[in-house]
Amino acid sequence: MSGTHVGSPIAARVRHVEALLEHRGLLDDGEIDRRIDEFLAGGSPANGARVTARAWVDPGFAERLLADANGAIRELGLSMSGGLQEQRLKVVANTEAEHNVVVCTLCSCYPIALLGPSPGWYKSEAYRSRVVRDPRGVLREFGLQLPGTTRISVWDASAESRYMVLPRRPAGTERLGEEELAGLVTRKGLIGTAAV
Ligand code: FE
Repeated sequence: MSGTHVGSPIAARVRHVEALLEHRGLLDDGEIDRRIDEFLAGGSPANGARVTARAWVDPGFAERLLADANGAIRELGLSMSGGLQEQRLKVVANTEAEHNVVVCTLCSCYPIALLGPSPGWYKSEAYRSRVVRDPRGVLREFGLQLPGTTRISVWDASAESRYMVLPRRPAGTERLGEEELAGLVTRKGLIGTAAV
């Protein structure tokens, strides 16, 4: 395995399992690395931004996205499978009354297909433990001050389920086209640690 966890006990165990699978002829040498590279190559926050902009300009798409995100992103040629087993995606929409933020309290599960590799802070112990206990305080540290009347929902990702936040369309963007709108969306906005 390549990546940041080389040398950690879990990487050694994974490498051991890979070696066993290869030894038994169930995997050819390097197949997992190739699959992961393919998966990561396709993943970028530009995908999540494209999904968001489409939802902003097309209410029908927004409705389908919130009801069945896996099906809706397929309309844009995107998928949560990346050559491996498909992960269930749920998109949660910010409103005036509710702000959503995503975390993986157990490890670092993240919708890579739509957001690319996760930022370091997302994987940090501090973020993972604190955003659950004190979401408002954590968001304030990110520079996001929410009105006291806005409820904050924290979504905990897992191996099978991934979440993406649908930010609110900023005021004054009525004249912008879909591509320009996509350019306004940030990775933090899609995780919920920024407004957009
Ligand atoms: Fe995780």
